[in-house]
Amino acid sequence: MFDPDFAGADVVPSPNHGGRREGRSPDMIVLHYTGMPTADAALDWLCRPESEVSSHYMVYEDGRIVQLVPESRRAWHAGKSSWMGEIDINSASIGIEIANPGHPGGLPPFPEKQIAAVVELCQDCGARWQIAPERVLAHSDVAPIRKVDPGENFPWAALHAAGVGHLVEPAPITGGRFFQRGDSGQPVEALQSMLAYYGYALDIHGEFDARTEGVVAAFQRHFRPEKVDGVADSSTIDTLHRLLTSLPRLGS
Ligand SMILES: [Zn+2]
Repeated sequence: MFDPDFAGADVVPSPNHGGRREGRSPDMIVLHYTGMPTADAALDWLCRPESEVSSHYMVYEDGRIVQLVPESRRAWHAGKSSWMGEIDINSASIGIEIANPGHPGGLPPFPEKQIAAVVELCQDCGARWQIAPERVLAHSDVAPIRKVDPGENFPWAALHAAGVGHLVEPAPITGGRFFQRGDSGQPVEALQSMLAYYGYALDIHGEFDARTEGVVAAFQRHFRPEKVDGVADSSTIDTLHRLLTSLPRLGS
């Protein structure tokens, strides 16, 4: 047993953790959905040695928060991931599992009580570890294609309204020029540059390949969730551009 880092959490220890690489402090939060039929089944799995997965926290539908791994330790939630060129995301982050059956369960909505608890937990971790808003991310952001959680129904706007995360109002979907798989050239290179600058793991080579399509879909899932199709339409590009220009690290 250990004392919870978040005062409101119940402790249910998981054996699945190790040391953070080179004693790195967490400076990002990765949000997940459990993707299982029930929260209790997910918690059981996260605590089984043979699963080799865990998270720091799990948030129930009713807002109850369980801590599984001390924040000082490296929980095993992100898997093969990358952000801003860093690949050991588990060493860099706090992992929060949010109980929700996810895509396999038809993407049911996240109850308000649950989101209020997620907000409070993120605010608390964010203040204690000085986590920048733009480093509160989806699992799908750090592992595009491979992961789709917490999903396009996750209410990022509700978090942002409470000062958690980085978001801009998505640009409306209209007609006009778009880029998609198979396209190539300078505009594709510019798109890849913007996505990579924001943090996504994407090579800049001007070919709109499968990887680019997957990263565009990951971006849409978080920032333009109305249509997640991997096509870089003008709404997607405009939203990305405005997100970049509003980055605190650009001093604006
Ligand atoms: Zn996940």
